[in-house]
Amino acid sequence: ATPISVVAGTNNALKHGILIRDSRAIELSPRIRAVAFDKTGTLTRGRFEVISVIGDEKVLYYAAVAEKGSEHPIARAILERAKEVYGEIPDADNYDTIPGMGIIAQRNGLTIGVGNEKLVKGFEAVINLEIERKVRESASDGYTVVYVIINNEVLGAIVLGDSLRPEAPAVINELRRIGMVPVIITGDRTEVAKMVARKLGIEHVYAGLTPDEKAEVVKELKDKFGITVMIGDGVNDAVALKVADIGMAMGTGTDIAKSAGDVVLLDSDLTKVLSFIKLSRKILSNIK
Ligand code: ADP
Ligand code: MG
Repeated sequence: ATPISVVAGTNNALKHGILIRDSRAIELSPRIRAVAFDKTGTLTRGRFEVISVIGDEKVLYYAAVAEKGSEHPIARAILERAKEVYGEIPDADNYDTIPGMGIIAQRNGLTIGVGNEKLVKGFEAVINLEIERKVRESASDGYTVVYVIINNEVLGAIVLGDSLRPEAPAVINELRRIGMVPVIITGDRTEVAKMVARKLGIEHVYAGLTPDEKAEVVKELKDKFGITVMIGDGVNDAVALKVADIGMAMGTGTDIAKSAGDVVLLDSDLTKVLSFIKLSRKILSNIK
């Protein structure tokens, strides 16, 4: 039976904006060793803005048609900018989202792909050297870049900027202070992940990952460090959240992430990670 103090503690946590879906998370909390963070939407706000377009200007329009049905923050930013330039954007005839890679859509016989280098590889599309040079440049400046592929040709790319959640540096510092190892696990490319890592002083960075690879990394962290927390917001984090000893989903995240999490941080404030650890310890000390 669940001790009454756990029930009371869980209610108290809820008052602090932390939904504990599995009380095992409370029991494991004193032994947490590693805390893995997804990047986009977790360490960053996940609110992108289009910074520039590389290659043919039309790529913005095509990308918007493909992304119209997507909920991904990259898609929202592309749509917002395209509407400013082109007005209403037509629906694609059909589309498929591929978590951790991008989106593929069809419209009037054209196949449009928007996504990262993995998607480009999947299309077996060739990237022209001038486009690739500019993409690398933007990525090493810390921007997220997505390629726009039309009928197997990379027509250009879109450069997007996101920003760190303001509380992230203090939360990471505090986790380190109490002896935990912070880690970044992201589907975005290495240069972008490293830029965020540098700002936060995070040493362990795993980038360019598919959803399954994120889960693999979590397994490795469990072997290497011990009890591991994974915090994420996306469909692409669901498997990793399940594999982690404690999966934490951001409240602003997707429903899939939230139902995969043992804990949900209700208003996506990262300081709630610290609150969770403190409250759990209090709950456990009341049991003893
Ligand atoms: P993170 O792991 O940092 O949260 P995601 O897994 O959501 O990031 O996305 C990883 C990468 O996959 C993005 O940086 C982007 O290149 C690509 N991607 C995912 N979804 C989309 C989309 N709807 N449109 C374009 N690119 C996408
Ligand atoms: Mg994310």
